[in-house]
Amino acid sequence: MAETILTGIRPTGNLHLGHYSSAIRLLLDIQEKGDYDNFYVMIADTQALTDNAKNVDKVKNSVVQVAIDLLSAGLDPKKATIFIQSEVPELFEMTGYFMNLVTLSRLKRNPTIKEEIKQRGYETSLPVGFLTYPISQAADILLFSPTIIPAGDDQAPMIEQAREIAHSFNTQYAPIFKMPKGMIPESKVVARLPGLDGKLKMSKSLGNCIYLYEDEAAVKQKIMNAYTDPSHIKVSDPGKVEGNTVFAYLDAFCKPEHFEKYLPEYKSLDELKAHYRRGGLGDVKVKLFLNNIINEILTPIRAKRKELENNIDDIYKMLFENGKKMRKIADKKIAEMHDAIGINYQKFLNK
Ligand code: ATP
Ligand code: MG
Repeated sequence: MAETILTGIRPTGNLHLGHYSSAIRLLLDIQEKGDYDNFYVMIADTQALTDNAKNVDKVKNSVVQVAIDLLSAGLDPKKATIFIQSEVPELFEMTGYFMNLVTLSRLKRNPTIKEEIKQRGYETSLPVGFLTYPISQAADILLFSPTIIPAGDDQAPMIEQAREIAHSFNTQYAPIFKMPKGMIPESKVVARLPGLDGKLKMSKSLGNCIYLYEDEAAVKQKIMNAYTDPSHIKVSDPGKVEGNTVFAYLDAFCKPEHFEKYLPEYKSLDELKAHYRRGGLGDVKVKLFLNNIINEILTPIRAKRKELENNIDDIYKMLFENGKKMRKIADKKIAEMHDAIGINYQKFLNK
């Protein structure tokens, strides 16, 4: 069956290796296989405003940056429809109806939201729009009838919430929503790449990222300062691989051929890990190896970005055109929704 793919990225900064690790790699894979009818990528600016009401500049300037990052990472604008969330105001209308189908206690149970509230220090001053963004995200998803949502694992609770809302709506009114499925990488580290500081998630809002646009020197410096095992002080000390950011990144990005190319004394990651565990392998050597791998990924992305930066107008034009296309799809679904709820008063007029 041909699928409809939809994913979203918040314009709260440039894209980083965490995005590349999960969502972007999944999208590139889908794009290459070509087994889809529709392929939508939303730049979620109104969602970004839910925790950036006072940082509008950051959000609005990041929109085109995210588009450039996606295109430089390899998304083909002829295959993927990249659009801006606020260009489709019907999303707010759908959100309004969905709000009646979700309880406050259900929203408060969402584990991603709980974590994000803590990170943002929102415990005592929580913007209503932020707490309720999983409802608007359900509209983002259900308005465009996707079958597959590629994402990192922090999005699993959001997809679950969207499915619950779809089910409530379908049973309460009429079955107009398909059940979308999440596509989340099986590998834990790929689905949630840790930050350079060893924190559980690399995140724009936490400032612990390697960005796709960063130059070779900046990336190297970040890798050389990345969190490893604090008790691995001398080269001869045995080291821990678990919770060690550098090994986590190797788990996510290292391929067997990298050894032959950059570190021929080892045959596999298992061998490298075993040496680190028993002692005698220094952090610097492992970090330089990782740096080569990351550079291999980022070099073509940087080159493409340079080209795209000269065509910002064309990128905006593409985003606006796509916004119009998505609005047409949205109009139809909203009409279907009105019919399902029974608030299509045109019917009375025509009698
Ligand atoms: P913010 O901090 O503003 O929420 P973010 O860095 O979390 O930004 P999002 O735009 O929220 O980025 O996420 C976009 C996509 O990238 C989602 O599918 C999300 O699951 C995925 N993603 C984000 N961070 C990571 C990460 N560290 N590892 C794997 N996937 C990630
Ligand atoms: Mg996020």
